[in-house]
Formats: sequence, C-alpha cells, structure tokens
Amino acid sequence: MATIEMATAVSTSVAAATPPAVKASKQLPAPNSDLYQLADILTAEESAVVKKVRAYMETKVQPIINKYWSDDAFPFELLPSFKELQLGGLGFEGYGCAGGSQKLFGFVAMELARVDASFGTFFGVHSGLAMGSIYLDGSEEQKQHWLPPMARFEKIGCFGLTEPLVGSGTGGGLLTTARREDDVWILNGEKRWIGNATWCDVSIIWARDVADNQVKGFIVENKTTPGFSVEKIEHKIALKVVQNGHITLKDVRVPEANRLQGGNSFRDTARVLRMTRYMVGWASTGIQMGAFEATLKYAQERLQFGKPIASFQMVQDLLAKMLANVTACQCMMVRLAQIDDEGKLGDHQAALAKAFCTAKSRETVAWGRELLGGNGIVADYNVARFFADAEALYSYEGTYQMQNLIVGKAITGIGAFV
Ligand SMILES: Cc1cc2nc3c(=O)[nH]c(=O)nc-3n(C[C@H](O)[C@H](O)[C@H](O)COP(=O)(O)OP(=O)(O)OC[C@H]3O[C@@H](n4cnc5c(N)ncnc54)[C@H](O)[C@@H]3O)c2cc1C
Repeated sequence: MATIEMATAVSTSVAAATPPAVKASKQLPAPNSDLYQLADILTAEESAVVKKVRAYMETKVQPIINKYWSDDAFPFELLPSFKELQLGGLGFEGYGCAGGSQKLFGFVAMELARVDASFGTFFGVHSGLAMGSIYLDGSEEQKQHWLPPMARFEKIGCFGLTEPLVGSGTGGGLLTTARREDDVWILNGEKRWIGNATWCDVSIIWARDVADNQVKGFIVENKTTPGFSVEKIEHKIALKVVQNGHITLKDVRVPEANRLQGGNSFRDTARVLRMTRYMVGWASTGIQMGAFEATLKYAQERLQFGKPIASFQMVQDLLAKMLANVTACQCMMVRLAQIDDEGKLGDHQAALAKAFCTAKSRETVAWGRELLGGNGIVADYNVARFFADAEALYSYEGTYQMQNLIVGKAITGIGAFV
C-alpha cells in the first residue's frame, strides 16, 4: 500500500490574505481532491509513477499551458522531457511498451487531465487510440515494427475514424472507402476532428472495404504518402492545445502489409474504442480534480465582505457538491479498472462510466467557474480552461447519448441504433 500526497501546501498568499475574521494562527487546509484516499490502492511502484507524472505536470506543464491554450498551440518544447517519463504504451505488454495495470493507466490519465486535458488527450490519442489499434488489431509483425518507436515517442500517431458526414453513426457505415488492387489498397475520403493529425507521423485510418462493406484499419505514413493531406481545424473553444485535423485522402495507396491484419470489421474498431472510452472517464475525473482544487484555493484566498468567500455557506455547499462529484467518479473508475484488469470490461460498462463522468464533469467545472465570479472566464485563473475542455470530452469518443444507447441496448436487450 502506498500513499500519494494529494494535497499541496497552502500557498503563502493564502496565509497573507487571511482576514482578521479568521484567526491568524489558523492554517487553512490545502485542497485535497482524493477524499476517500483512493491513491492508497496503488502499489509502491505504481504510486512512484503517478507521483512522477504529477510532479512533471505541475512543474513543466502547469506554468506554460494557459498561454499555449490561449494561442491554440501545442507545446512541442515539452516533448523531449515528456518522453523521459517512459509512459508510451502504458497498459500494453511487450514491444517496448510501458506495460502496467489498467488501474495505473487510469491514474496516469487522471493525473494528466488534472493539470491539462489537452496534454492528456495528446497522450491518449497517441498511446491509447493509435498504439492501441496496432496492439489490439495488428499482426505480430506489425506490432514489432510500429510499437517500439511509438512507445519511445519517435513516431507519433493519430486515429482517424470520424468523418465530416459520419460521427455517431460510424458503426453504421463509413463513407471513406478502401479498394484493393493486388497488394495495394486505394483509400478515398475525408476524416474530421483527428487529434495530432496536423503534425504526427502515423495515422490509423478506418475505411469501408468496397468488396465486403466491412470496416478495415490502415496504417498510413502521413508525411510521405502522396494524396494524404491535413488541414488544421481552427477556432475551437475547447482542448485548444490539441491540434485537430481534417484529413483528405485522394487515391492514397497503402500496401497490404499496412492493413491492420486483425481488423476485419467495426467490431475490431470497437475493441479499441472500449478501452479508450473508459480512459475518457478517468480524464474527465482528472478535469474535475483540477477544477475543484483551483476553485477551493481561490475561495480560500478571495475576500468579499471582509471574509474569504470560502466562509460563506452557499459557497461551501457548491464546493462540497464539486467534491462529491469528484469522489463518485473516482470510485466508479477505480472499480472499472479492477474489472478491466480482470479482463472483463464490457462495452456497456465502459460506456456508462464515460457518460456519467463526463456529465458530472460538466456540472463540476460549471460550479467552479461560478465560484470564481468574473475570473472564472479568464484562462489565467486555471478554471476556465477546465470549464471549456470538459465540453470536448463530453462529445468525443462517442457522445453522451451514444454511450447511453450502448448501455440501453445492454440492459433492455433492444438496440435503439445500428
Ligand atoms: C476535440 C475533439 C477531438 C476529437 N478527436 C477525434 C479523433 O482523434 N479521432 C476521431 O476519429 N474522432 C475524433 N473526434 C470526433 C468525435 O468522436 C465525434 O465528434 C463524436 O463521435 C460525435 O460525432 P459528431 O461530432 O459528428 O456528432 P453527430 O454524430 O452529428 O451528433 C450530433 C448530436 O446528435 C446526437 N445523436 C446522433 N445520433 C443519435 C441517436 N441515434 N440517438 C440520439 N442522439 C443521437 C449526438 O449525441 C449529438 O448530440 C473528436 C471530436 C472532438 C470535438
């Protein structure tokens, strides 16, 4: 059993701002978003990894991220130091991957999002969606070829499933087509919203085989493949650090050797999504932790009517409700991690957690934004970014409605969609 120090010391500015109404000797408690001490379930080795990630996020990412977020830019300067954390392929065994339990993967996803959900999304798309597609659907040869350099972050990946005209309905039919000519596949179509696409090296592109109408996955090398182009999606209001691309595929030729050999229908795509959806549950829990901690600290420091706003009953009510959401989501995710580590995670279980945690996340960050008053809409105060980013997690990797329809199908036995 190991304990992670979830709380950081109360800043001197809090002490300095303490008004006469609060006894000078009284030390205010530091924000702690792990009320039920869930970090205690980590092993000592896992705890060391999570602590390392927390320290990295607080010292390297936190100081610069609001500026990058406001500028719609990705902090490439962080990549060399981030690689040293050796997190590539977390949760996957072999092939140079970081390995570890799903519980550890989850806690790391939560820690990343606790400081910045965009940075967490960059990692989730590369290590979870792109590497996960190869890990789950690739042949032995493909895994050996692609996973080691991706685990070392020498090649960065993205995952292209969503299209301009097909979002929630990807299981019902993609418009991007794949046509086989001898040992080459010819891809045509468009992909939208693809995280990391504007700058990464490898894209996993999902397309419909015109011969059997089944969805197949292809490994496309972005920078050297003729007919493959990417345009950055501009003017987003959430996850602004993530560079989302609109991909156009025009007679893109991909060798059969780069078709994911174990990906023969949408069921195989869905196996990847099950894992990453569950990770969005962790990430949206991390967002809530970050928002709660920043809000509580602000409420302890901010004076109105000569007192910290944290002393007002209605403010304490909202803070308690924020922490209840954080704690409920953490407990749910920890139990799901145990189920996943036992190899029993079902689509409906992952969907329930994704829907619940992202919905609670919106509620939590909105209360945080509210408690910061006007400063709640200014990125510099560390809550506005969470407030905006929660919106993207609510919709990506399958919307709230689609997750609930997956749950609905499992519990009623009746599918409401394809
Ligand atoms: C920031 C961001 C990053 C993303 N990154 C990626 C990525 O890396 N790779 C990738 O492939 N995709 C990515 N996506 C795409 C994401 O997965 C889709 O946006 C999502 O699946 C929803 O699709 P859509 O936006 O086309 O919405 P639509 O499918 O058009 O849905 C619009 C609305 O209709 C509702 N709706 C649709 N069908 C039903 C139904 N049958 N019953 C009830 N309600 C329904 C939806 O719930 C939603 O509220 C990303 C999206 C965002 C915003």
